[in-house]
Amino acid sequence: MTRFSFDLHATDGTARTGKITTPRGEIRTPAFMPVGTAATVKAMLPESVRATGADILLGNTYHLMLRPGAERIARLGGLHKFMNWERPILTDSGGFQVMSLADLRKLTEEGVTFRSHVDGSKHHLTPERSMEIQRLLGSDIVMAFDECPALPATDDEVARAMRLSMRWAERSREAFGDRPGHALFGIMQGGVTRELRKESAEALKAIGFEGYAIGGLAVGEGQEAMFGVLDYAPGFLPEDKPRYLMGVGKPDDIVGAVKRGVDMMDCVLPSRSGRTGQAWTRRGQVNIKNARHADDPRPLDEHCTCPACTGYSRAYLHHVFRAGEMISGMLLTWHNLHYFQEIMEGMRQAISEGRFAAWEAEFHAQRADGDIERL
Ligand SMILES: [Zn+2]
Repeated sequence: MTRFSFDLHATDGTARTGKITTPRGEIRTPAFMPVGTAATVKAMLPESVRATGADILLGNTYHLMLRPGAERIARLGGLHKFMNWERPILTDSGGFQVMSLADLRKLTEEGVTFRSHVDGSKHHLTPERSMEIQRLLGSDIVMAFDECPALPATDDEVARAMRLSMRWAERSREAFGDRPGHALFGIMQGGVTRELRKESAEALKAIGFEGYAIGGLAVGEGQEAMFGVLDYAPGFLPEDKPRYLMGVGKPDDIVGAVKRGVDMMDCVLPSRSGRTGQAWTRRGQVNIKNARHADDPRPLDEHCTCPACTGYSRAYLHHVFRAGEMISGMLLTWHNLHYFQEIMEGMRQAISEGRFAAWEAEFHAQRADGDIERL
């Protein structure tokens, strides 16, 4: 049986490219993971998500445990079969979303008690239960249960949450057990404080994980502060294991993170933006709602090979958005996911050929041009 492994192929400065191998397929890194919150990447068929170039999806433990329930998904053959995606799936631990979405949370050393934002039902989530849910789902990459403190938080509060998360990481490792072909990732916390990040990384390395996430960023601290942490935090983690930056981000966040040594990322941005009329292109953000597109026969991006750009005009995309037609969200989501994957492929190529700096300069130059002139 194929085991979970990570091979680094090339580095260029601190940027890295490589490959994660799992029994369900390979993940080329740096990798962008589209988010399939409720067992679907909204507005996309799984084969369409694959066609954009995605090797792996992310599923949300919190959402799936509440609806339709992890035990039910397990009875139906696991999440891959349930959602018709046979390639790798990473699931988060539920911790972050309990803190951001659930009602009446009560946090103790043992875990978190909360009420569902869906129906008000009461639930208890612990490191052990999170591992059990992620096993029931059949996740290939399982995340340790952690606490990400809500911002703004004091240094003492960030330190307390980090140390609790490290004790939970140990309990997660214990509960995960021995599962060949599956991986458990630990999550570094510590806010924007170098000493706390270092302490967290040391604690995780002492436990030992198949991969390491950098958590507690992209939670409102701003790009400058995030890059400030990424200037040192990846270097605290083992070189021979994948590094995953959770919840990032916009195209320029992704490029800056890869430049600093991150291998994996996930974000709802391309799919969420696609449903609200926002497109991301090589030349920046395009608001398809804007009246300037109403008579424009040109594609969103003449160089893009996605179905939205090869088959439809800006005028059509504008019209279907204004008319509230479902195809609007479908086409823009497809384009956005395609563009995000194109960025990843461009970076993988550039890193393997030792020309990441030139690629990055071109990426920023194209964005600085802004969208094409109106007709
Ligand atoms: Zn396109």
